[in-house]
Amino acid sequence: YQAKTAGRECYITFDASMRQAHDQAFAMEQAIRQGLKHGQFIPHFQPIIDLKSNKIVGLEALLRWHHPSEGIKHPKAFLVTATDSGLIVAIDRMMLTEVCYQLAALPPEQAPMMAVNLSHRHLLHPAHVQSLLSIIDNSGVEKSKLLLEFAEADCVQMKQTAIDSLATLKQAGVHLAIDQFGSGQASLQLLQQCPVDFIKLDQQFVSQLSEGKRQQALFRALLDLSQQMGCELVAEGIEDAQQQKQLTAMGCRYGQGFWLAKPEAHLAKMFAVDNVAHSK
Ligand code: C2E
Ligand code: MG
Ligand code: MG
Repeated sequence: YQAKTAGRECYITFDASMRQAHDQAFAMEQAIRQGLKHGQFIPHFQPIIDLKSNKIVGLEALLRWHHPSEGIKHPKAFLVTATDSGLIVAIDRMMLTEVCYQLAALPPEQAPMMAVNLSHRHLLHPAHVQSLLSIIDNSGVEKSKLLLEFAEADCVQMKQTAIDSLATLKQAGVHLAIDQFGSGQASLQLLQQCPVDFIKLDQQFVSQLSEGKRQQALFRALLDLSQQMGCELVAEGIEDAQQQKQLTAMGCRYGQGFWLAKPEAHLAKMFAVDNVAHSK
């Protein structure tokens, strides 16, 4: 791959460090396969909060690998290998199955909106989409409770198949979100192409709010844009009281962040009042 990108007149030898990287990825891939076999991929849950009332309006399922010898691993440690190898499709299906199962076990009136992250790879084959829909159907959860999130960076070149897949999912009755919106180069084009209900704004926009008027103006414009498009906006990465205050003052309704509530392994605990640290 490196040799290809370096151009025609250039050749690159397969040196020791490349071999090492290749071996590491291969070992990781084998470990992921074992993890899948032994049910080591499990969801943790982070609340999505109404910033004014501090009430939980939904949860986001976040992938964790409970590795037998290395402890809990976050997606950053294995997502690239899982995606490149295609194993992410199996991991996501396992997550979706588990999340739907847990959701279906709650009394319907208690069941929150549940956001699930999915790899863009599911959108490239109609059969993958059908497979997601049958997982949801078999679980018996109400489809409108589900919010399926696709990261913007994955969607740089949105193929027609992927756009059609989103339309199929939407038609089936689930809600859709663009995740990490504004982190890549695809943002505005994507909004036009994809029938999403939620925009999850990349953490950088919240962390830059304190830098000054220009950053705040940008945030306001994005808030306005999402309203004009008929989408809800969720501000991610809220880490202190000042940020929450600023966001509320600007009219931003929904947020997530360590300041509001951290990801937790147990769904039931999410409903304990004291989980939301700053509820009044
Ligand atoms: P994301 O979906 O945008 O999730 C938000 C990430 O920000 C999570 O990291 C969360 O733990 C972290 N976070 C939440 N609040 C704060 C905060 O206040 N400050 C900071 N600095 N971080 C905060 P996590 O769980 O490590 O996930 C990283 C990314 O991995 C996710 O970003 C998502 O794109 C991907 N991912 C997570 N679960 C899955 C999954 O089941 N399937 C797939 N395909 N991707 C997943
Ligand atoms: Mg997400
Ligand atoms: Mg996000």
